[in-house]
Amino acid sequence: MLTHEKPQVSREEQLQQERLEAIQPGLARFDEHLEQAGQFPLQATGIEILQLNVGRVCNQTCRHCHVSAGPRRRESMAGEIFELALDVLRTQRIPVVDITGGAPELNPHFRGFVTGARALGCTVIDRCNLTVTQEAGQQDLVDFLHHHEVQVVASLPAPTQAETDAQRGEAVFERSILALRQFNAAGYGTGDPRWPLHLVTNPTGAFLPGDQTELERHWKQQLLEQQGVRFDSLFTMANMPIGRFLHWLDGKGQLVPYLRRLQAAWNPRAASSVMCRNTLSVDWRGFLYDCDFNQMLGLCVDHGAPVHLRDFRPDLHHRRRIVTGLHCYGCTAGGGSSCGGALDSPEA
Ligand code: SF4
Ligand code: SF4
Repeated sequence: MLTHEKPQVSREEQLQQERLEAIQPGLARFDEHLEQAGQFPLQATGIEILQLNVGRVCNQTCRHCHVSAGPRRRESMAGEIFELALDVLRTQRIPVVDITGGAPELNPHFRGFVTGARALGCTVIDRCNLTVTQEAGQQDLVDFLHHHEVQVVASLPAPTQAETDAQRGEAVFERSILALRQFNAAGYGTGDPRWPLHLVTNPTGAFLPGDQTELERHWKQQLLEQQGVRFDSLFTMANMPIGRFLHWLDGKGQLVPYLRRLQAAWNPRAASSVMCRNTLSVDWRGFLYDCDFNQMLGLCVDHGAPVHLRDFRPDLHHRRRIVTGLHCYGCTAGGGSSCGGALDSPEA
């Protein structure tokens, strides 16, 4: 029997949904922009990436975290959900699995799942916050990832201590650099396609990221000259008005101005390649979403697609209609924003 019942929306998700609904009347609906661009309704083109958000436990509490993750969170994916994910990867031949959190490596089933997914031939991406490599029990993490040829996408707000520590906490920059040196020593970030190391950054305030190509050049130079570390690519992502960043915007009276800024920078080319079109996102309980952002707002897949991984239906999930909202402007502003960075050049 299919599970059509959606999970109960948490207090946190409900408050966020209500906050965004409350400001909607002053802003154009996202779907109106899609309509004008001939892109309504937004539809998935297939599933090339299964993204697992394995929980909200994290060793950090970053100011702009859209997941509101931290050491006190207890949500964590159980072994049986990982098994379901492996079944779907196997039967659907989905080529890429993208593991995120929280700090995904702190989930006790993380390594077993990575091993299983690699045995299936999947490309595995670990979204790593870098400092987790220095947590108790994680000293061999870099070796583990290297052994399984796991791709690393590591978050770092800036190539400088002041900006990084301001967003992520004291001494985070120094610990992140230590981790990057470890990754480099293992062969990551040196251009070898088996061990890619990408950095992902989002702005430290209520503004859009700068040009990705230009920033990458600057970061590479600065990190090499001042810290002796290398990486392959820089991905820029816009901050999404969700989670801790939503509260931060509200506290500064910046929520509506920020959304107007995103809306004014609407880019239809970015909209045509937003990540929800080829990704399916799974939460720690196995419920399904069009993306990690919808997940944080408690907006499950809809329009007839079953809401739980155990009921995966290729005919209903691969071409599903996507659930959209005001927050989607974050993906379509300027150069666009996705898990793999900008989608288009901002000035194009
Ligand atoms: S942004 Fe990443 S590292 Fe920071 S608290 Fe959130 S999940 Fe953890
Ligand atoms: S927020 Fe999610 S659903 Fe909306 S455009 Fe971005 S990826 Fe797609």
